Amino acid sequence: MHDCIIIGAGIAGMVTARVLHDAGYDIAIIDNARKSSASIVAAGLINPITGKRFEPSWRYDEFLLKARQFYTECESIDEEQVYYRPFPMLRIFADEKEHDIFQKKYTTEYLGRYVGEQFGPEYSSIHPTIKNLHGGFRTLNAGKFDYVHFLNAMSSTFSSCMVNGFIDKGNLSRNNDVWTVTIDNQVIHSRKVIFCDGWQGSKNPWLADLGLRYDIVKGESCIIRTTLLPETDIISRGFAIIPIGNHTFRCAATFQWNELHTIPTAFGAERLDSRITSLIDCPYEVLEQSAGLRPTMFEHKPFMGEHPIYPGLLVMGGLGTKGALYAPYMAYNLLEYLRGAGDIDPEMNVLQAFQRR
Ligand SMILES: Cc1cc2nc3c(=O)[nH]c(=O)nc-3n(C[C@H](O)[C@H](O)[C@H](O)COP(=O)(O)OP(=O)(O)OC[C@H]3O[C@@H](n4cnc5c(N)ncnc54)[C@H](O)[C@@H]3O)c2cc1C
Repeated sequence: MHDCIIIGAGIAGMVTARVLHDAGYDIAIIDNARKSSASIVAAGLINPITGKRFEPSWRYDEFLLKARQFYTECESIDEEQVYYRPFPMLRIFADEKEHDIFQKKYTTEYLGRYVGEQFGPEYSSIHPTIKNLHGGFRTLNAGKFDYVHFLNAMSSTFSSCMVNGFIDKGNLSRNNDVWTVTIDNQVIHSRKVIFCDGWQGSKNPWLADLGLRYDIVKGESCIIRTTLLPETDIISRGFAIIPIGNHTFRCAATFQWNELHTIPTAFGAERLDSRITSLIDCPYEVLEQSAGLRPTMFEHKPFMGEHPIYPGLLVMGGLGTKGALYAPYMAYNLLEYLRGAGDIDPEMNVLQAFQRR
């Protein structure tokens, strides 16, 4: 009998697995080989100021603190692997209008802790391959997270606990407070089940009564190679070019609401090229292109907690565009809740959605 079955091995599931395992929980993890996981295509940007209107990211300092603690601890246990790194970032303005919006925001709201040096157009310390026609600023407290590296490391740590399969209404059941999963000829029992199923939560019959309002967004990204671009900064403008080593850069991402599949398209390639060439002025080679579906919610906030109809069934999802930032805070909160040592964060509690149905 396990303490907990985690369904979904993306960032939400794997961070939760690590947190629960380290707290002494006996876990099993079920996934159908991450066939449509958003985490395996995520760019890994962690950014305190988002969008064209320069909104400070919701509760950024609090989530970043937990994320840094968690990833640093994993890195030291996992023999000095690097999953998370603070990284310099240049935010380049698109036009004069954007520059003005920023200036207004900068003087009226507390953006200062995230804004370093501000610079004008064609400022000499910005490399000539970076298009800087309207100025910009250096973002403080930004970073990059290596999703694939982290997930691969967790998969090997938990290889003996991982089961390949897909859960639906028919192969999960509850009897006398014990949950049972049947996959092929395997029968797995557990006291708790946690769904960390990303965008597929929107189709999950077990979650149908919760009143969750998904607003799933497809995103495409690519990896490019160029020896002409410096590898010292992330370049960003609602789209980021992130140095990942050996003159390669992950470029992400497009936003598409009307195409709910994970296949990269020619249209996506065009959009990516137009975003890249709006930021840099040098030839590059595309090494690969990928696509995924972000588990975004209408409320733009993640959710977690215990299902009010099925005791012992928990959920953690809606991580949207910020999985790497949110997952550690959420997993620790879930642990506290499971131990009876704390409540679910009221701003994320799944009961909110249930009550407003
Ligand atoms: C192009 C793109 C770029 C992005 N860039 C960034 C970025 O720069 N920074 C950032 O932090 N985030 C980024 N994101 C968002 C990030 O990918 C998500 O926030 C995060 O991956 C969500 O993680 P998850 O674990 O909730 O979902 P997923 O990674 O989708 O994992 C869910 C897992 O559950 C499994 N599953 C689902 N249902 C079942 C079932 N019934 N039974 C068994 N298994 C099941 C799936 O196979 C999957 O592996 C980006 C996303 C995209 C698409």
